[in-house]
Amino acid sequence: MNEMHNPYGRSPGGGITLPPYYRPTPSCSSNNFFPPNEHLAKGEMRICFVGSTPWPPTLKQSGTAIMLELGNGTAFPRRLFFDFGNGCVKNILQLGVQPPLIRDVFISHLHVDHYADLPYLYPFRAWSGGWREGMRIFGPSGDRPETGTRYMIDKMKEMLTWHLENFDHCPIGEGFNIDVTEFDYKDDNGICLQEDGLTVRHWGRSHVKSGASAYRVDWEEAGLSFAWTGDGRPDESTIEFAQGVDVFVTEGQADVMQLLNYKYGTPKEVLQFTIDTYHTPYYAAGYLMSKIQPRVGVICHYSEEPEGEAITEIRAHWPGLFLYGGPDIKVINVTKDRIWDRMALRPQSAAISPPDMRDVFPEGQLPDTIPIPKPRLPREEQQDAYLRERELDPNVYYPADVRRPLTQHYDEKTFVMDVKAMIAARDHTD
Ligand SMILES: [Zn+2]
Ligand SMILES: [Zn+2]
Repeated sequence: MNEMHNPYGRSPGGGITLPPYYRPTPSCSSNNFFPPNEHLAKGEMRICFVGSTPWPPTLKQSGTAIMLELGNGTAFPRRLFFDFGNGCVKNILQLGVQPPLIRDVFISHLHVDHYADLPYLYPFRAWSGGWREGMRIFGPSGDRPETGTRYMIDKMKEMLTWHLENFDHCPIGEGFNIDVTEFDYKDDNGICLQEDGLTVRHWGRSHVKSGASAYRVDWEEAGLSFAWTGDGRPDESTIEFAQGVDVFVTEGQADVMQLLNYKYGTPKEVLQFTIDTYHTPYYAAGYLMSKIQPRVGVICHYSEEPEGEAITEIRAHWPGLFLYGGPDIKVINVTKDRIWDRMALRPQSAAISPPDMRDVFPEGQLPDTIPIPKPRLPREEQQDAYLRERELDPNVYYPADVRRPLTQHYDEKTFVMDVKAMIAARDHTD
């Protein structure tokens, strides 16, 4: 192990690995992140780790998922999601993000801990007002069509057949559309998205099967960059294509197989075999950081234990700023001259903020009325009539003074949102 010294120069009382730029950014209003009311300044990046572990999921760690927010000076930062593991939807909603605004998802590879919440979000997002546009999913090809991202999405829809038909009784509009960009996993450093002053590139990773990828985002407008390795063995490609990135996020596994055997009972040989063919030991994570020279090295997709040992392995190579991308929900703010990390404060109860149509029209152009899309598959067309006929007569359970007609059919005259009236009702202005 290297002799420790402060790589940023003498800084008594400033720690050994903390640079002068480790300090709160202008957007950080508190020592905790209070979603959703903290405004993200233009040109500032915020990274929310809304899931951070492959296995086992715990009260503190959901399946891996990273929400990257790029501040544009409005209440609606540009959002990109990297992986979408089990349990991340709950965390994203707790950050106050409206479901229709979860749109662009980049899947690193098709291990289910990286996309398990997608079939959950997809129909509920459509139902929750995601009528105007469907999701965009980006992901690698595989060694044949059946191992690629497009195939997974097609089969996901097939798996959801009952659910999608059932929800088509509701207003769905465009919500079930998925625009899939399946890129060639071998097209190293190829571009899979370029718009709004940002470029997303990808490269192939060694993760047993062809078709695992890493991503790098260059936000040219702000001069900031971010990389997420997904899963894989430490490789030359990552050193080459993540070179000089501001925020380098890699997976990590502590190389302490005997200890993990004591804790979980898994044979040491199986653990070694898994890390040595699939994953990045912390030593290698530190080595990658030392070669890439990010402003901050981050580990996500990890198990919290044993933390002290893990950091020591990283420090064998990387003396610079290191932060954990977890547990849920770690938040890292980044500007050109500052980096700061905090935990988000989360409510115990449902955190979906009250319906605010301004959120669904981020460009600020609120129409007077919004038609509610016509359902495509009323229940009369997908349900045996006897099931409806056996429903109880509402008169037996509604007291007479609260009785109202049931809304069981779409009526284009009444299925219209009167925007001004809804805002006024909520704001109690009349
Ligand atoms: Zn994984
Ligand atoms: Zn994996």
